[in-house]
Amino acid sequence: MCGIFGIYGHDEAANIAYLGLHALQHRGQESAGIATSEGGRLHRHVAMGLVSERFGKETLAELPGRAAIGHVRYSTSGSSELRNAQPFVFEYSHGGLAICHNGNLVNATEIRARLERQGSIFQTSSDTEVIVHLLAQIREGDLLDRFTAALRQVTGAYSLLLLSEGRLIAARDPHGFRPLVLGRLRDSYVFASETSCFDLIEAEFIREIEPGEVVVADGVAVRSFRPFEPVKPRFCVFEHVYFARPDSLLNGRSVYRARERMGRRLAIEHPAEADVVLPVPDSGVPAAIGYSQQSGIPLEMGLIRSHYVGRTFIEPQDSIRHFGVRLKLSPVRSVVDGKRIAVIDDSLVRGTTSRKIVTMLRGAGAAEVHLRISAPPTTNPCYYGIDTPTREELIASSHSADEIRSYIGCDTLGYLSHDGMIAATHPSPVEGGEPGAGYCSACFTGAYPVPIPNADRERAPRPAPQIHPAADPSPLVPLRRLKH
Ligand code: AMP
Repeated sequence: MCGIFGIYGHDEAANIAYLGLHALQHRGQESAGIATSEGGRLHRHVAMGLVSERFGKETLAELPGRAAIGHVRYSTSGSSELRNAQPFVFEYSHGGLAICHNGNLVNATEIRARLERQGSIFQTSSDTEVIVHLLAQIREGDLLDRFTAALRQVTGAYSLLLLSEGRLIAARDPHGFRPLVLGRLRDSYVFASETSCFDLIEAEFIREIEPGEVVVADGVAVRSFRPFEPVKPRFCVFEHVYFARPDSLLNGRSVYRARERMGRRLAIEHPAEADVVLPVPDSGVPAAIGYSQQSGIPLEMGLIRSHYVGRTFIEPQDSIRHFGVRLKLSPVRSVVDGKRIAVIDDSLVRGTTSRKIVTMLRGAGAAEVHLRISAPPTTNPCYYGIDTPTREELIASSHSADEIRSYIGCDTLGYLSHDGMIAATHPSPVEGGEPGAGYCSACFTGAYPVPIPNADRERAPRPAPQIHPAADPSPLVPLRRLKH
């Protein structure tokens, strides 16, 4: 996952990009970068870490120009290091080019191997660079023709921003896996992964960039093109479940309300005999509100999140992530002690987080812990840009709900059904067509809308989660066992 932001035609392009990226920080915390264009000359600053830590007044002053693109990253392809931080800036026969990407190309490994055999020298290990090499090889046509000809050769997920030859071009893959929206800030156009950043910069949300659409900003208006064969849209349902900010709109629908409806449906599908509903903050909060509203069980903030650590899942090193769960959350004994708790989280991936939370709650005196997940079991890795672990690490890929319950140490466990999740993303009964047709939910079903070539399927397998049904869940798991 990553967040991208672009602005065309603003005197303070770099400053606005900084603010835009700030509001997209939840989409990636490993690196941040901004590239600007000034009379055809490109300027760039990229750094590892958070936007607010890595960009100051001086840095932004060194990014002149009226057009900017920016990126916050967490790696799904290529390692977490500075050379992979975007936007990438390259010089080629037509001058300078800056590009940033949210998504994951599924045939990048094959294309890269072919290009390298032909003599290409890659400077990064990111899939995005493949697009630049393909683009540089095409001699005919203007920038738009060459860019779309390059994009026709790649498959998978991309929401892209390209800055070159005085233009900003936004492109979304034909399935529209990852979000991309268009807005207006006075006389300038803005592009972003999510609408939440428009609120911060006081831009007006115009519309989604549609699946398969390419939009060019190079004058007072934007122009829209449809250069690809149309296919069924497959928007990532996990954006609704977890990834996007609750104050964003996805496909014109409120993320907050979708999560709240997921919680309501969960309460119908899996009621709990509980005294209190407790969200796992922050991502579990809207679903817990829905669960509480539907069940009539009062909601309490019985887990407190420290806001001084990043998302625990997001750092690529296992050791940091596992330690992070305890750094991040702590129980409120006065809420939990002696109570039967329905604890609501948005997803269960490896099971590590839930297991620790249950242990914590029992340690704080919980009489019973009923875990409710506002999504189906995650059984398959994502190849389209969400950082899910390998299939072997996904606890639900090889263990039954009861085995998982026993590993996690909760009294009961209930997941929202796939149909319930899809229906919850719609404010009213599905508008035409089969429910779920517009989504990719491969992480829950294994039905991949774009085939994954073998080379991209092979990720270094890591050990499967070990299940210890008899283990006493009360003590925290020793660090050396925290492998998955
Ligand atoms: P796990 O401990 O592996 O079961 O992780 C589950 C927790 O991680 C849940 O609380 C989710 O909110 C969060 N989560 C799930 N998927 C992701 C993801 N792709 N990136 C970051 N966090 C995630």
